[in-house]
Amino acid sequence: MQEKIQNLIGGKLCPPINQTYFDNINPATGEVYAQIPDSQAEDVATAIEAAEKAFPSWSSCGQELRSKFLHKIADAIEANLDALALDESIDNGKPLSLAKSVDIPRAVSNFRFFASAILHTHNESHYTEPIAINYTHRSPLGVVGCISPWNLPLYLFTWKIAPALAAGNCVVAKPSEITPMTAYRLSQICVEVGLPAGVLNIVHGFGASVGEPIVVAPTVKAISFTGGTQTGARIAALAAPMFKKLSLELGGKNANLIFADCKLEEAVATSVRSSFANQGQICLCGSRILVEKSIYEDFKTEFIKQVKALKTGDPLDEHSNLGAVVSEAHQQKVLSYIALAQKEGGKILTGGNAVKPEGRCENGFFIEPTVIENLNQNCRTNQEEIFGPVVTLDTFDNDAEALAKANATTYGLATSVWTENLTRAHNLAQKLESGVVWINCWLLRDLRTPFGGMKQSGVGREGGFEVLKFFSEEKNICIKL
Ligand code: NAD
Repeated sequence: MQEKIQNLIGGKLCPPINQTYFDNINPATGEVYAQIPDSQAEDVATAIEAAEKAFPSWSSCGQELRSKFLHKIADAIEANLDALALDESIDNGKPLSLAKSVDIPRAVSNFRFFASAILHTHNESHYTEPIAINYTHRSPLGVVGCISPWNLPLYLFTWKIAPALAAGNCVVAKPSEITPMTAYRLSQICVEVGLPAGVLNIVHGFGASVGEPIVVAPTVKAISFTGGTQTGARIAALAAPMFKKLSLELGGKNANLIFADCKLEEAVATSVRSSFANQGQICLCGSRILVEKSIYEDFKTEFIKQVKALKTGDPLDEHSNLGAVVSEAHQQKVLSYIALAQKEGGKILTGGNAVKPEGRCENGFFIEPTVIENLNQNCRTNQEEIFGPVVTLDTFDNDAEALAKANATTYGLATSVWTENLTRAHNLAQKLESGVVWINCWLLRDLRTPFGGMKQSGVGREGGFEVLKFFSEEKNICIKL
């Protein structure tokens, strides 16, 4: 009997009102293994009502109590780390080792971080000599919507929910319909730890039937969204005329700049990770590798050698470096980009094919890590987000050309720069059109830092105190002395 995922509404796990479900597929085997509620606007309306009802007491119970609840959730996630990692791996196709070491620990950190951060906020005061004193006051917004994607399911879901709750809001959240399982486990945990009814509501289903009703509901004051740029544009078009607060974390086409003076060994090893971690399905993956001409052949030889050594296969096998991509449709999309790259004149240096592992994963959706060269930066392969295990190699002659090529897309999420010349690194970092710049590293995250993109990679910043500001309304109070 397949497990039926339930919505969390008003503190209760419940089926969708229409009692309709759709299939949840394990991408490593191609098998249906659970059922997902096909919720509709009526479920969202019930969730919003429950959130509105919970808001007065949650927003006024004090940050210490809210902090305690967030810690309880973090403790419960940590206590179930192995089971949750297995759920995440089965639902998404990612290696179990990655879910265990990154996804689930990060969900714990998200709750712990904001449980603590909310105890360390402060307000501002401005003395207008000698006649008045102003102070700023922050209050929660009310009911807010959180919508997240499939690539880092629990990690990104909790990255929104934790600060929204910490700041005193009540939440209606929608995980991706492609990877809903750990969001369901989170709802079970919330019931278990006694989170007050209606504070967090989780509604499962498709973007059009669940996401949009959240976005357009007049009483939902803010939308925090992570996903594709096109979806972000749709959400902005719906929400902007309603003057909602919007935080949009969107796609990327990130450059990875390798200068001749870098520590080559480290640059190659990290580039393998930044290209293919999570099958290249991280918005921060560096999919355009740009190498200074004088070391191009050396970098290429070592990079290809290490990529060829990566094992693609059963995500539950601890020796697998890459698991399955998230779905058959996504596999087809990525393969179509590999075909396009060849049409555009690209030369495949390694990979390029679907993989059929022997045994239980023979019907899964796997793709070889793929490296392509001989493409200019204007072609579609280098302009459009592929979001799979595919990277291109290109060269540059000097800093100006590196910068121009790095900035030559409509996206602006993250860039890595590999150089031992700190002046160059600093100068480039100023000019890169990118919300995140990593010098001699990748995915080194401090949760206090602002996180987000420029250009079509998004609007707004998550993380640290920035996101607590997003999830609250600031007011200035002026007292005449
Ligand atoms: P997606 O845009 O298809 O879906 C994201 C979420 O939005 C899902 O829950 C989906 O159901 C929902 N949705 C879809 N249409 C909607 C609508 N009209 N109204 C409201 N909600 C709607 O994205 P995806 O394929 O799940 O995720 C991959 C994308 O996410 C990539 O582009 C990737 O770069 C991006 N991403 C960005 C970041 C970041 O921090 N910038 C992080 C991770 C992923």
